[in-house]
Amino acid sequence: MSETLLEKYGGQVPRYTSYPTANHFHAGIGAAAHRSWLAALDPASDLSLYLHVPYCKRLCWYCGCSTRATKDYAPVQSYARALGVEIERVAALLPRRMNVRHIHWGGGTPTMLSSGDFSSLMALIADRFAIAEDAEIAIEADPMALAPTLVQTLARSGVNRASIGVQDFDADVQAAIGRVQSVEATADAIEHLRAAGITAINIDLVYGLPRQTLNGLFDTLETVMDLAPERIALFGYAHVPWLRRNQRLIDEATLPGAVERLAMAMGAAELICGYGYEPIGIDHFARPGDPLAQAARAGNLHRNFQGYTTDAASALLGLGASAITTVPFGYTQNTADVAAYLRAMAQSDGLATVRGHRLDEDDRLRRAAIERLMCDFTVDLARLTMEYGRTPAMFVDALARLDAMAGDGLIGRTGWRIAVLPKGRPFTRTVAAVFDRYLRTDLQQHARAV
Ligand code: SF4
Repeated sequence: MSETLLEKYGGQVPRYTSYPTANHFHAGIGAAAHRSWLAALDPASDLSLYLHVPYCKRLCWYCGCSTRATKDYAPVQSYARALGVEIERVAALLPRRMNVRHIHWGGGTPTMLSSGDFSSLMALIADRFAIAEDAEIAIEADPMALAPTLVQTLARSGVNRASIGVQDFDADVQAAIGRVQSVEATADAIEHLRAAGITAINIDLVYGLPRQTLNGLFDTLETVMDLAPERIALFGYAHVPWLRRNQRLIDEATLPGAVERLAMAMGAAELICGYGYEPIGIDHFARPGDPLAQAARAGNLHRNFQGYTTDAASALLGLGASAITTVPFGYTQNTADVAAYLRAMAQSDGLATVRGHRLDEDDRLRRAAIERLMCDFTVDLARLTMEYGRTPAMFVDALARLDAMAGDGLIGRTGWRIAVLPKGRPFTRTVAAVFDRYLRTDLQQHARAV
């Protein structure tokens, strides 16, 4: 891969877990829109729930999540109570007790919740929503803080998938990111989860970390293969210290450059696939029998704020501080300020919504084009625009950029059908960005594409 291509196409672009991306949400959409959109949902449609727990035992230096460190359980308990209030309020705004097929607990560290608080919240969800028998209930788990009693509670409450953050097992890298996590503790946590019946294990890794080397990453991957997860996510480290103050603790001089990052991403993908995993989208891998791999093969893969998913629900209700709700009408986001979130829940009938975006037809069409590119690496713009009553001529301005990419061997274009070629896969976000009407390239808002 030439440095010229990295220079030309490796600039700052969004991860496209939504379109428009959250930095374009605005205060003109607030609680009133949120209420009316929830009330107008099709009662027969399925829902998904995302619950955010913004607490961790420690703050890792590389972290880009909305979270804070606490050693004390009292704030977590107060937060859990407020989350219960929001679950009740949001459920009461819906047209009926609606079906739920996916529940995702994220953070922060949702496994910081006590067994009692977690089981009470799950019981409340089961009371206010009809959870499908085969629902996927997933949780992000910190292996360094996973009490055996909590594991039993998770399993009893229906949790059937756990994501374990590893990043890299190399001691130098762990010191450089302020997160020390042994192989033994990670393996123990996975063993406990599996023994309790939570057998779908995801492992999250990161490339591009400070002091990380290709050989060190390969060593981590070999260890991960022994742990035999069902899915692996290999994210590129997004160094955005202007957005995340904790990342200022990272010594920028020790970060790998774009050429090294690309070698890590490509080398790791080859190694993981050599063990029989199937590549999913730009940064996931799954065993062939895993539902994510099946969805990818069938062209049913989706992308939401949690990344790649089998979740096809048109409404994803975000609960908790900073959580984003996606409904057919648009997006709403809760305040990320935990104190403000608690105050909103303490008011009678309050919601914590502070911003959002109302989708128009142009947004929906572009969102579909971007999602197909991010999931399938191909999009037929003639077919897609026809579905929306438009013609592909609306993208005529994008042709010059697409043809330049085709000239560089990144994409193939046959008429209005675009396919990202193997050489272009590392730049898929850059290809998708061609369809982003809101993208500002003059502002520092996103991490680099590679
Ligand atoms: S990386 Fe995970 S455990 Fe570390 S601070 Fe962020 S959310 Fe918490």
